[in-house]
Amino acid sequence: LALRAREALGRLTAVVPDFPSPGILFRDLTPVFSDAEAFHAVVDAISEPFAGTFDAVAGVEARGFLLAAAVAYATGTGVVTIRKAGKLPRAVYSESYDLEYGQAALEIHQSDLPAGARVLVLDDVLATGGTLAAACALLDRAGAAVVGCGVVLELGALGGRTALAGRTVHALEIVR
Ligand code: AMP
Repeated sequence: LALRAREALGRLTAVVPDFPSPGILFRDLTPVFSDAEAFHAVVDAISEPFAGTFDAVAGVEARGFLLAAAVAYATGTGVVTIRKAGKLPRAVYSESYDLEYGQAALEIHQSDLPAGARVLVLDDVLATGGTLAAACALLDRAGAAVVGCGVVLELGALGGRTALAGRTVHALEIVR
């Protein structure tokens, strides 16, 4: 599974220099998501290490939503949205964090998950880890049990694993 996904990633990932700001090498996975076989392989492979351990899948806005909804449907679990600030209509928990390029806040509804729900957190790219660390902190505050984080690509040089110390993290592929 992971092998088929990695082959597709190597073939289809678009690497874009200086986006969204100078010096950032952006890994654009939209060609992977738009290819039927590649998307299927990536969705299956990203959840495989966590099979049977989760009741819900949380996706981080926006590309994480695509993965989380597909994994949740494929595994018969629920899906939870972790959104940028100001998007969710009911009472939220909020976490500020630093990005590779800027600053932001993420939010989760306080009551979208039953206490003790086992949650897998998904995003497309792990860079500095600030985003996923904030997502995990939100789930902790919501009373969920984070079983781990899954990403398609990990940018190994940026230290994301350190920001996620103590969490289980699986990446389909680690790049420099
Ligand atoms: P970070 O919080 O630094 O781990 O950044 C991860 C978030 O920013 C993810 O939601 C990614 O989609 C996005 N991101 C950061 N750096 C990149 C990059 N070089 N290429 C693609 N996406 C990135």
